[in-house]
Amino acid sequence: MRSQPSRSTRLWRAAGALAAVAALAAGAGGCAAANRARSAITGSPARADGGLTAADGYIPDGQSVSPFDDSVPAIGKLDPALRTAIQQAAKDAAGDGVTMVIDSGWRSKRLQKALLDQAIVTYGSEQEARKWVNTPDKSTHVSGKAVDVGPTDADSWLSQHGNDYGLCQVYTNEMWHYELTVAPGDTCPVQVSNASAG
Ligand SMILES: [Zn+2]
Repeated sequence: MRSQPSRSTRLWRAAGALAAVAALAAGAGGCAAANRARSAITGSPARADGGLTAADGYIPDGQSVSPFDDSVPAIGKLDPALRTAIQQAAKDAAGDGVTMVIDSGWRSKRLQKALLDQAIVTYGSEQEARKWVNTPDKSTHVSGKAVDVGPTDADSWLSQHGNDYGLCQVYTNEMWHYELTVAPGDTCPVQVSNASAG
């Protein structure tokens, strides 16, 4: 059994992926690359050349977006049925005093690739990395059919009420990852252990 990475660890990984891409875009290493990477990590407006942006569905480290903010590509490019379901859930969670945000929604293939590349560095092999980050061709984030929900109390709320909206946790190791997998009110399918097992 392995423990779940913390949310901050996941955010750090995302930032690391962005830094890797920024460094790549800057060509050879050195201060310029480092500075650009740092700028990308902090989400500064002076973003790195070729860096990932909100247009890729990228949500900077430590930030999240409202599930109602359709103007953000991470939300606007979600499958409309999923978006409607998560918005309804967020509304009802708010009625219970729980604020629900989206840490990651739709992702471009470029962003998904960057996340996978970074995970391979972090975990040392593609096989291990794939337990946490899917390929651009297989990721349900890229097809707009998945959302990573936060903070933790919102994840807990969804684990209790998600199926009322058709929303189910899919992977045992990712308590934040939800997809629209059943008809509202139906029982969620048994979770698969991780993203590489599906
Ligand atoms: Zn996810």
